[in-house]
Amino acid sequence: MTIKLYNTLTRQKEIFTPLEENKVKMYVCGPTVYNYIHIGNARPAIVFDTVRRYLEYRGYDVQYVSNFTDVDDKLIKAANELGEEVPTIAERFIKAYFEDTEALGCKKADVHPRVTENMDTIIEFIEMLIDKGFAYEADGDVYYKTRKFDGYGKLSHQSIDELRSGARIGVGEKKDDPLDFTLWKEAKDGEISWDSPWGKGRPGWHIECSAMARKYLGDTIDIHAGGQDLSFPHHENEIAQSEAATGKEFAKYWLHNGYINIDNEKMSKSLGNFVLVHDILKEIEPSLLRFFMLTVQYRHPINYNQELLEDTKRGLERIQTAYENVQHRLEHSTNLATQDEQWEDKIAELHQSFVTEMDDDFNTANAISVLFELSKQANLYLAEENTSEAVLEAFIKEFETITGVLGVELAGKDEELLDEEIEQLLEERIQARKDRNFQRADEIRDELKSRNIILEDTSQGTRWKRG
Ligand SMILES: [Zn+2]
Repeated sequence: MTIKLYNTLTRQKEIFTPLEENKVKMYVCGPTVYNYIHIGNARPAIVFDTVRRYLEYRGYDVQYVSNFTDVDDKLIKAANELGEEVPTIAERFIKAYFEDTEALGCKKADVHPRVTENMDTIIEFIEMLIDKGFAYEADGDVYYKTRKFDGYGKLSHQSIDELRSGARIGVGEKKDDPLDFTLWKEAKDGEISWDSPWGKGRPGWHIECSAMARKYLGDTIDIHAGGQDLSFPHHENEIAQSEAATGKEFAKYWLHNGYINIDNEKMSKSLGNFVLVHDILKEIEPSLLRFFMLTVQYRHPINYNQELLEDTKRGLERIQTAYENVQHRLEHSTNLATQDEQWEDKIAELHQSFVTEMDDDFNTANAISVLFELSKQANLYLAEENTSEAVLEAFIKEFETITGVLGVELAGKDEELLDEEIEQLLEERIQARKDRNFQRADEIRDELKSRNIILEDTSQGTRWKRG
């Protein structure tokens, strides 16, 4: 069995062959830390964490590096507006990034390099490009000589002529050719800056990823990933820089995740439909947001709205309930048959489907369909008169394997909390009946029933038990 992935570079699905056996070197472009992350930033964090988890599940030792852009124009602008220092703002939002992504079940990268902590590496990289004739200094700035690099445009599948026709030299830019891009930017008065052979300044955005990927992963890496919006110019420029500097291929596989729309509209500041993860997690379970993101294969666009989120919530609860019911049966049943091969085979088949779907360019949407089928089969099995410990355990193992790879929590709440919830709903039901709001009372009964809680109205009041 082999993993196939869609490579933006070749525009086709390719068989994944790592550079070194059983090892994967993976670099994912991280955020510019001038604000909380929005759900557009959360998508690459979640989908590439899932890619990593799956590769690890398939036995690869994954080295995962994801950077923080902790100095750039946006940070300087934010610092000016807030009357704060750039490092203060960066520190605040790096902390917030870790809080948000941890809540979303994203494992930390092996290294989260920051631009400001890798200034020497970045400067050395620029010097290397100047030495090789791929970059030039212009009055305190340094630019990359785009036309000198033969492969320019190979990732975004554009010819240099097509690109040239649209490019203009902006006001204040000192470059020779409109296609040239900044490697080092001279500091304006009072701006945060670092010393360099070209005077005080800071690096351009693209060079940091080339320099840090090489420092932490080497000249050639297996997988470079990021949002689709980064493929041009950011990733195109990374290739130009890295391959010019080392003379080697930079990344074998380029993975890009699709856009997020909000209510079928592009998310943009001007439309005011920016959804920050920090805000949304006050309202919904992080695991639900993660699950939602994975209901669509990562390359496709995903539409975010309340209705879809509600649907997804019900779906996730169905899975969680099925899992809890299997566990409950295993813990409490006294009538355990020894085995049942037919069911064990069925579970093994579902496992195989899961692997097949994930092997096919990490198709989490179909992997989730397998999870629903597993839940359905679990419910059918629980309806049987005799259940075997081995089959129940096989169900549990499969639920845990799939959700482990997806990074989705199965038992959102522990029993104690759930008990509390039940009591609370019961109180609400008593009140509803007192108020003669029988519709609400019935709704509560039904909801509890759907969660497998059975109510018994007795003369002493309402008692409940787990079904
Ligand atoms: Zn990058």
